[in-house]
Formats: sequence, structure tokens, C-alpha cells
Amino acid sequence: MNPDARLAELSANLGALDKRISAACAEAGRDRQSVTLVAVTKTFPASDVELLASLGITDVAENRDQEARAKSAQTSADVRWHFVGQIQRNKAASVASYSDVVHSADRPELITALARGSARRRASALGVLIQVNLDPSEPGELGPRGGAHPADAPGLGELVESEPSLRLRGVMAVAPRGADPDAAFAQLAAVSRVLRARFPGAAWISAGMSGDLESAIRHGATHVRVGGDLLGSRSRLRGTVAG
Ligand SMILES: *Cc1c(COP(=O)(O)O)cnc(C)c1O
Repeated sequence: MNPDARLAELSANLGALDKRISAACAEAGRDRQSVTLVAVTKTFPASDVELLASLGITDVAENRDQEARAKSAQTSADVRWHFVGQIQRNKAASVASYSDVVHSADRPELITALARGSARRRASALGVLIQVNLDPSEPGELGPRGGAHPADAPGLGELVESEPSLRLRGVMAVAPRGADPDAAFAQLAAVSRVLRARFPGAAWISAGMSGDLESAIRHGATHVRVGGDLLGSRSRLRGTVAG
């Protein structure tokens, strides 16, 4: 697609999305400024990041190290890079080198590896969110999409806070497939309250995607992560669906 046509498409999608976010904020009695739209650009080219930045997007997210590393190097736009995918420990230093915020910290050895990578490869602290598994069918386990048991979030937060090269920002979750997102996001809000009681600065709640962002905003999401409804269908364009 030529750049002008793609820009027009992204602009129209962004306009519709912004209306949805504004309406959800109004319904929840929240300020529109309290919700940041994070554009999930996985499988889409660096040129789309540049176009989105020209439309005012300030935050983008990726979920695979190799793709994210290449794309962030190819992009000159001044955006914050969020990492939202599961991370193998041997990729942690790489992820820490180009990301501004990692949403998917869910186990002690990963947090330690991110801290070491951040200390070695960054000038400023790496932002970290504790990913929580809200799938009731997998209690106490790392879920198929990652995430710590909700009861483990404060301890993991403690570990993040003990690392000078990391900065605890809050919590993140993906609503379980086929379950009521309101129940899941209400549970995430409760986990966030427990974490904030101990660490008042950890106020971010990263929740809500194309299909459930209204529910997430109702339950206090500060960051919604939207791919498909902003950039278009991943499967149609690239033949893959990641995440
Ligand atoms: C892909 C992805 C999203 C975006 O999902 P859409 O349904 O395309 O909006 C959000 N969060 C994570 C963790 C993802 O992997």
C-alpha cells in the first residue's frame, strides 16, 4: 500500500479508536488523559511506527525480541517502546537494551536477568510491570501466555524495587480467552491496589486490547494495548498471528 493510503487508513482507525476510548472514559467518569493508547505494532513494518508517530502516537509495543530489536533500530520516530511478550531469560538483556518498559515480568529469574541487562546496557532504569495470570483454569501456574499467580505479584514487585536498574511501574494482564473480561479486570484492579499500598508509584494498570478495552477502562486501566483495531488484521497481512 502506498504511504498516503496507509496514513489515511491508520488515521481513520485511530479516530474511531480514540472515540471508543473517550466514550469508555466518560462512562467510567474518568479523564481521557488518564488512559494511554499503546499501539501494538507486532508483524507490521517500521514505516507504520513512523506513520503512527506522525499521527500523535507516543507509545508502541512489540512481543518478539528479534522483530522488536530490528524495528526499533529502523525507526527514527521518538516513541516509547513497550515489550509485552513472553521473554526467555537469554533474551532479557537484549529486550532491556531497546525497551523503555517491559510489561511481562512474571518470575524472579527473569527480573534478575532484566536487571543485569539494564545495568549493563542502559543509562536509565528500565520500567517494569508485573504480568499477572488471571486464568482461573490455571491457578498457581504460569499461564500459557505468561503471568504470575496474583498472590505472587507483591513479592515480585519487591524484587523489582530492590534492583537499582529497574523501576516498578505496576501490573499487566491479558483477559483469559472465553471468560468474562469484567471479572478478570476487576481481579487485576484488586492486585494493583495491593501492590500500590506497598509501592505507591506503581500505579500503571496495563489492560485491554481491541476486543475488551471498554471493560479494562471501567476497571482502571491506565494503558490499553491495541493492535488489530488500529493497524488492521495481522493474519490477513502477514499470514501469522502472534499472541
Ligand atoms: C497482540 C497483543 C495485544 C493487541 O491485541 P489486539 O487484539 O490485536 O488489539 C495486546 N497485548 C498483548 C500482550 C499482545 O500480545
